[in-house]
Amino acid sequence: MNNLPLYFDYAATTPVDERVIEVMVKCLGKAGNFGNPASNSHVYGQQARHSVELARRQVAGLVAADAEQIVWTSGATESNNLALKGIAQSRAGQGGHIITSRIEHKAVLDTVGQLEHAGFSVTYLAPDAQGLITPQAVKAALQDDTFLVSLMLVNNELGTLNDVVGIGEQVRHHGALLHVDAAQAVGKVAIELASWPVDLMSFSAHKVYGPKGIGALYVGPRARGQLHAQIHGGGHESGLRSGTLATHQIAAMGAAFALAGEVFEEETTRIRGLQQQLLAHLVQIPQLRLNGCRDQRIPHTLSLTFASADFNRQALAQVLAFSSTSACNSASTAASHVLLALGHDAESARQTIRLSLGRYTTGQDIERAAQAIKDNVCAPAFWAVARE
Ligand SMILES: *Cc1c(COP(=O)(O)O)cnc(C)c1O
Repeated sequence: MNNLPLYFDYAATTPVDERVIEVMVKCLGKAGNFGNPASNSHVYGQQARHSVELARRQVAGLVAADAEQIVWTSGATESNNLALKGIAQSRAGQGGHIITSRIEHKAVLDTVGQLEHAGFSVTYLAPDAQGLITPQAVKAALQDDTFLVSLMLVNNELGTLNDVVGIGEQVRHHGALLHVDAAQAVGKVAIELASWPVDLMSFSAHKVYGPKGIGALYVGPRARGQLHAQIHGGGHESGLRSGTLATHQIAAMGAAFALAGEVFEEETTRIRGLQQQLLAHLVQIPQLRLNGCRDQRIPHTLSLTFASADFNRQALAQVLAFSSTSACNSASTAASHVLLALGHDAESARQTIRLSLGRYTTGQDIERAAQAIKDNVCAPAFWAVARE
């Protein structure tokens, strides 16, 4: 166990919190809450339904939504597909214009790509030099036939935080709908859907110390009547997403979101401290660049570009589990589309690492990570001098 590299990839996924595992396993065995939540004729089903509805209130509670506005899905990828294809379908035959950005997650980009293929027109906004999509940029891109805008709250590679309230005001004024992928934001940013001008929002459990394979889509009142189901068969979730509800996954997601709310202040403060501790070391490294806005960001995720040639990625990977880009891109060897959109060339994209901190990162981990980075990024002679 001790030879494993230190985990610095919380943005790719998180381990399930022990308290969440406890809730989850109680929904599995024959002595547990194993019933089908749709079986309302007996107590097994009713108890399962009770757990599902509690979880729905817990998820809604963290983001200041109403429980009825939460639809269960298999993860943020499915939520993004349901939101984008489900709204586009209400335009059948009419076509229309969609706005998104070049630095979205592939679950949005590939889905919008499908819609483009089906005949919709799409504007892919470039981020500003800070890695942000601004309300002004969105305003300038709105067209007469724009019906949908999809932008993320927190960028998964950079940790930058978009002003989705400012963006939503522009979009709403125009009469279009705003979808926000918030998979990277939950538990790290306060989300207030009751007052935010956002119509659809995607969530995932496994980025918030819950299990993989479960997520949700918030469907606000303006989107409700326009959203078309993408998975049919039984009419579960008010007809918006059929399929037997995965009680254990759903109960676990509810518990994970409730927990995220309980620890929010303490965890955010602690991780901000760890980030400062890490940055205090990293500023000593010549020509190191922190990608993305310094202020409008979460403290958990850092994208760092090293001066070329000085950086031994393989050696660093022995000590730290980090990622080059998002986990979904790292299956391919292509340079990160996010970094390219920020103006990096392929070479400097390759000299970039993403470190992401989380619930189990300690001050000692930060010290070891900082040392490993120093050991592997610069000519040893530099540090020999620097240490004297
Ligand atoms: C992880 C992630 C997704 C995909 O979520 P899954 O639940 O794994 O499908 C989508 N968008 C963003 C921003 C993510 O970070």
